[in-house]
Amino acid sequence: MENNKSVIVAGAGLWGATIARVLAEKGFSVKVIEKRGAVGGNVRAGIDESSGIEVHLYGSHIFHTHIPEVWDFIRRFTEFNGYQHKVLARYEDKMYFLPLGLALINKFFSLELTPGEVKDFMSDEKNSSRLFDAFFRGYTSKQWGKAPEDIDPSIIKRVPVRDNYDINYFSDTNQGIPLDGYNSIFDRMFDHSAIEIETDREFTVEDLDEAKSQGIHVFYSGPIDRLFGYKFGSLEWRSLRFETEKLAVKDYQGTSVVNYTEADVPWTRIHEFKHYHPEQKNVMDRSETVIMREYPCDWKVGDEPYYPVNSPESAAMLEKYRQCLKDYPNLTVGGRLGEFKYYDMDQSIAKALEIAAAFSRERQ
Ligand code: UDP
Repeated sequence: MENNKSVIVAGAGLWGATIARVLAEKGFSVKVIEKRGAVGGNVRAGIDESSGIEVHLYGSHIFHTHIPEVWDFIRRFTEFNGYQHKVLARYEDKMYFLPLGLALINKFFSLELTPGEVKDFMSDEKNSSRLFDAFFRGYTSKQWGKAPEDIDPSIIKRVPVRDNYDINYFSDTNQGIPLDGYNSIFDRMFDHSAIEIETDREFTVEDLDEAKSQGIHVFYSGPIDRLFGYKFGSLEWRSLRFETEKLAVKDYQGTSVVNYTEADVPWTRIHEFKHYHPEQKNVMDRSETVIMREYPCDWKVGDEPYYPVNSPESAAMLEKYRQCLKDYPNLTVGGRLGEFKYYDMDQSIAKALEIAAAFSRERQ
């Protein structure tokens, strides 16, 4: 096949898998190169052998989207189980349903505010500060290693604020967990005769140069600073450490995620994975469960990057790396790591769909 119709996809997370699948279907020959031993990026899951519980290896992933094209695309590769995500927050040994809505506010202040009353109540700085200090200050300082005032405000705005009793964490029209697990999405997306996969292989700038000399386009979703050998320094990431424990109890916490919002509890949240598959009656009924404590931590080169830390220094450095792209018209960089953006799974897929469609139009 001519090189004009061959592409390399470096990184096999959702962004890369989407690009690979769409281009394979458009008649391109796709070589996928993945640094880890398995595809799936941070969406990768494992199955606990004795209990059958699907464990999200890099922390909880709940698929949610309001983008029709993404929902249509992903459902070609999996059915969803209809799971609706709720997050509980534990503060001073009490449990609260997390969106900042009537359930949480009324319980916290021992009130019975109505939708018409809550806005006025929260506009009193004394009340909003008490609430913010209980549920955001401690959690955010653990999560980001900084005070909430020092992080990008868009991060905290991810958590919904509502004047009703809706305790769904996400406001999207569509959500759920893949019925037969996250890994099966990737198995099906990559199951195409035009896709070839090589794992355990890091894609380097030398590979990029070679691809350039051959006229092969590369879609890269690793960190851009790593690709260019950290020559301007490393972008700032927040990393996570997980402690997984198997317990001989049927149900440890009664729900999939509990956030621990106080600064002096060292973890930010505990995931209990069996709750993501309420339809798996056999798994639910067993006296076994898998929980995972999540500890945010600083990142250094060699650690797993999870969350981009936006700062003026990072933005300036990112710009320098973006300038390097000018030497490589055969390179497209994307995904959470590549773009250094706090993308959700559906946003990564949406971007990839756009990019792959534009690329194939150009090459027809
Ligand atoms: N956050 C918080 N308390 C909570 C939940 C979230 O302070 O109980 C803040 C925190 O700064 C976090 C941000 O809101 O990083 C976004 O939360 P989200 O649940 O979207 O985080 P993710 O699941 O992506 O880690």
